[in-house]
Formats: sequence, C-alpha cells, structure tokens
Amino acid sequence: MGKGLLPALLLAATVTLALPAPAVLAQGGVLENLLQAFTLSSLSDRQEVQLGSEINRQLVRSGQIRLVPASAALRRVQDVAAVVAQASDRPNIPYTVQVVADKSINAFATMGGYVYVTTGLLRAVDNDAQLAGVLAHEMGHIAAKHALRQMKDAAITQAGEAALGLEHSALVNIGAKLFFLRYSRADEYEADRRGLFTLARTPYPPRSLPDFLRKLENLPSNPEFLSSHPSPPNRVKKLEQLIAQYHLDRNNGGRL
Ligand SMILES: [Zn+2]
Repeated sequence: MGKGLLPALLLAATVTLALPAPAVLAQGGVLENLLQAFTLSSLSDRQEVQLGSEINRQLVRSGQIRLVPASAALRRVQDVAAVVAQASDRPNIPYTVQVVADKSINAFATMGGYVYVTTGLLRAVDNDAQLAGVLAHEMGHIAAKHALRQMKDAAITQAGEAALGLEHSALVNIGAKLFFLRYSRADEYEADRRGLFTLARTPYPPRSLPDFLRKLENLPSNPEFLSSHPSPPNRVKKLEQLIAQYHLDRNNGGRL
C-alpha cells in the first residue's frame, strides 16, 4: 500500500544516488535540472507510461524486484485490476499490474499505471474484494500523480545540490529509487479516499479497504507497510467516516 520494500537497498541507493558523470558538468546544469523538473509536471500520459515502463525495466534489471511470471496468481490480480482500473479516477491509461516475489505484505505504485503487489499480500487478503481495495488505493496514487511529484521534487533538489545536467537515464534512476521511498501521510489519505470512491464504482464493497487494514492491524507480525503508512486505526476511522457520509455501502449492498 505504498512503499517500503527492501529498506536496506534504499539505504544503499541513497548513498549512490546516481548523478551523471562529471563529464557533463556544465554551466547550464542547474537550469537544465529545473527545466527537467518542470517538464515532469507537464508530461503527457504517453510519456508518463513510457517513464513508468523504463522504471519497471530498471527495477527488474537491477534485481531490486523479482517479478512472478505468468501464473494463476498473476491472472487473478490482473482480472481484479482490470475491473478496478476501469472505475478508477484515471481509466484512460493502460495499467500494468504485476506480482513481486516477496513475503512481506506490501503493494506499490510508481507512475503511468505501473502497480505491484507482493506474494505476501496475496496470501494476506481474504478475498478478491480486499485485493481490489489495495489496488484501488495504489491506483489512487497514480491518479494523483504522487510519484511524479516526488520525482519532480528530487530533480529540483539535485539541481540545488549539484550543478550537473540531469539526463533522461538519471531521471529513470531517480524514479527507480523513489519506488522504495514513502509517500507522505497526506498522499496516503488521498489514495485511500480515491480508492474508496473507486471501489464504490465497482461490484466490490468499499468497506473491503478498511476491512483489510483492520485485519492487518490484528496480525501478530507487523506487516511492512504498516510502518510506512499512517496508523491503520486513523485510516480506518477516516474511511468509515467517508462511507457513512457518502452512503457508500448502499451502492452495491456489500456483495463481493
Ligand atoms: Zn499508499
């Protein structure tokens, strides 16, 4: 439901935050970075999908994530994701939803429709509705372009810290590193809210999202994303308030 997979790798990645070789050091570097950051906020959907795809390739190639090949589990995720994507706030981009071989209970979104769930998460959900809840939350991050904004902020920071030209490949590197960072609390609440309204437009009950969070809260071991997200009771409370306020339970009578 956010980020936080392999924190050790993040640590390593932070130290070696890839900047282009000093050979590209130039007077115009800072300006170029700011320009790059500006470009990020006005990417077309097609460019964003392309960037998401390059980040995906980078994550796989570097071994930072291991994708589960075609399987019944993957098909299940993609079937549920297709229903959720259609009802999401951004139904007009293609969604690439993949399963990461990892025992921790987690899910991620980058940009351009790229969403990941771990095998641990698939084991933890009670049903397709809870899986839909997680996917709707992740698609909420994508609709709100949270990762893109983080990339933009990182590009601006780099522009301030180093007068180096930021090439396209460096941008992809930044994106791949952001995969392991956390979204802000406000971003998480926004993704929850968008996810809830998305679910209300599917046959899955919106309640499945707070239900899943409540379930995690009661697990003996502390699932990975609980440490990287606002505390579940607060999220559950906010979600329940929205369900009551907008009568979201009425939309589908709670059927799976
Ligand atoms: Zn999240």
